[in-house]
Amino acid sequence: MPVRIGVSACLVGQPVRYDGGHKRNDLLVDTLGQVVQFVPVCPEVEVGLGVPRPTLRLVMNAGQTRLRVTDTGADQTHAMRRYARRRTAGLARQHISGYVLKKNSPSCGIEGVPVHGANGILSRNGRGLFARALLERYPNLPVEDEGRLNDPRLRENFIERVFAYRRLRSFFASRWTLAGLLAFHAAHELQLMAHAPSAWAKIGALIAGARKLPRAEIMRRYESVFMQALKRPATRARHAKVLRRAMGCLRGRIDHASRMEILALIEDYRLGLRPLIEPLSLVRHYARLYDVGYLKGQYYLEPDARELMLRNHV
Ligand code: SF4
Repeated sequence: MPVRIGVSACLVGQPVRYDGGHKRNDLLVDTLGQVVQFVPVCPEVEVGLGVPRPTLRLVMNAGQTRLRVTDTGADQTHAMRRYARRRTAGLARQHISGYVLKKNSPSCGIEGVPVHGANGILSRNGRGLFARALLERYPNLPVEDEGRLNDPRLRENFIERVFAYRRLRSFFASRWTLAGLLAFHAAHELQLMAHAPSAWAKIGALIAGARKLPRAEIMRRYESVFMQALKRPATRARHAKVLRRAMGCLRGRIDHASRMEILALIEDYRLGLRPLIEPLSLVRHYARLYDVGYLKGQYYLEPDARELMLRNHV
């Protein structure tokens, strides 16, 4: 199954902007596009406004955010909300694992979209109407705007979440059992520890008390805490701690000199002198060489090959 990501259509070069132009994002298309399949959506075209079209903007009116045509003031709020509800519901059938939205758009922007007040005051605290519907329907879906993806740390976090979300969705789409969920959770121990160590225990407690819960509720709760935990960006300090812990599993199997060399690499990484991939590759190498089952089963060390390729670009 390909990894599918929803995307504002103008970001992948489709000429759907109000003036017939596009906003191709090279990083998105040339890097992510090599590995994932995009599902392009232009809400303003699909709602029937056509190309070219008058520009839209968010306007605050009687305490409510409205989507209006800039020149005429014609109100498109109702039409866009109805379309967005239907379109976002349909995305479930396309099995998307993430979404990248165009920033600042009154339809697609996630945050900081300009909102025009009745008195002419502009505030930058709006959210596009399509983006709002998307986030309400899929609160755990990894969603970013293209601007934030310029930050390597946020980009890596997004990629990691996309693949984790996909694994989780595939797991819950199978005939899963509680024992299977425990195994799934165990395989993400190191990954979760690098992001939010407190979430590890919290999720463990959730599974332990899950027998009394309906399956749909277990899925809802697990997905929420799991994805929220991964949303917290991993830090160098936490990665280093996780790698040292992995080294503990290799104790007694590798010689002293090699062990010291890897520990020094981990410390260099923690200090920002080396990329994560260096100590991580060595730990993975020894985990495979000595067939350490626990480590070999960790997604932290053995991510999807496509995820690894993308993260190497970061
Ligand atoms: Fe279409 Fe959204 Fe791009 Fe505007 S920002 S052109 S609505 S895809």
